[in-house]
Amino acid sequence: MKLEADLHTHTVASGHAYSTVKEMVEAARQKGLKMLGITDHGLRMPGSPHYLYFANMIVWPRIMQGVEVLRGVEANILDTTGKLDVPEEVLAQLDLVLAGFHSDTGYEGTTVEDNTQAMIAAIKNPYVHIIVHPGNPQYPVDMEKVVLAAKAFGKALEINSNSFFVRPGSTSRCYHLAQLAKKHRVMVAVNSDAHICYSVGDCNASISLVTEVGIEESCILNSSADRVREFLARHRRANEVKTNINM
Ligand SMILES: [Zn+2]
Ligand SMILES: [Zn+2]
Repeated sequence: MKLEADLHTHTVASGHAYSTVKEMVEAARQKGLKMLGITDHGLRMPGSPHYLYFANMIVWPRIMQGVEVLRGVEANILDTTGKLDVPEEVLAQLDLVLAGFHSDTGYEGTTVEDNTQAMIAAIKNPYVHIIVHPGNPQYPVDMEKVVLAAKAFGKALEINSNSFFVRPGSTSRCYHLAQLAKKHRVMVAVNSDAHICYSVGDCNASISLVTEVGIEESCILNSSADRVREFLARHRRANEVKTNINM
């Protein structure tokens, strides 16, 4: 299986990543990707950009070097109510919103129950598209409850290739996640979480895992750029309907 999109990558703006937008896009083109999500860290991550960095992404060309570039963020889950560290007006304007737990960002949950409740609340947040690295053992969750919530709200769960290297203990949890996603037919996203241009599209570890578990390609969100577009459009429409009802 070949991926057409990588939906989780970081530029130098994240503070602990090393490549520019131009370098990341160039790498995506060289790897043959049709689509690249640039998702720098949300505001509470030490060294992350000001919210204006995200608000001003409107100046980005939609297509750079022949690659469709999604304006994104990897927001931090702050509590058990679905609150994220990026203002709603900014989230509403972005193409792609990832959400996950990160240390040093103010999340204070300590138990599996807290983490599960917080992750499910993030899944219910209408602006969130993908929950990132739910297999991170630093924030253990009740995986089946998370998978069922993702199914109910039409969100995707990530199998993060970087986790196998930077989040020790993730492998067995990612297998469990993949097995549950297959059982309940929940969409997964297979991403690099690249923090340098050389890692863009580098998802072999995650691809091997989802292939071994036997997840169908139609359930792998970013194996098709068209599928990503349809997925994002569906959520955008759902939010527009909600906004109209609220008016
Ligand atoms: Zn990072
Ligand atoms: Zn992350």
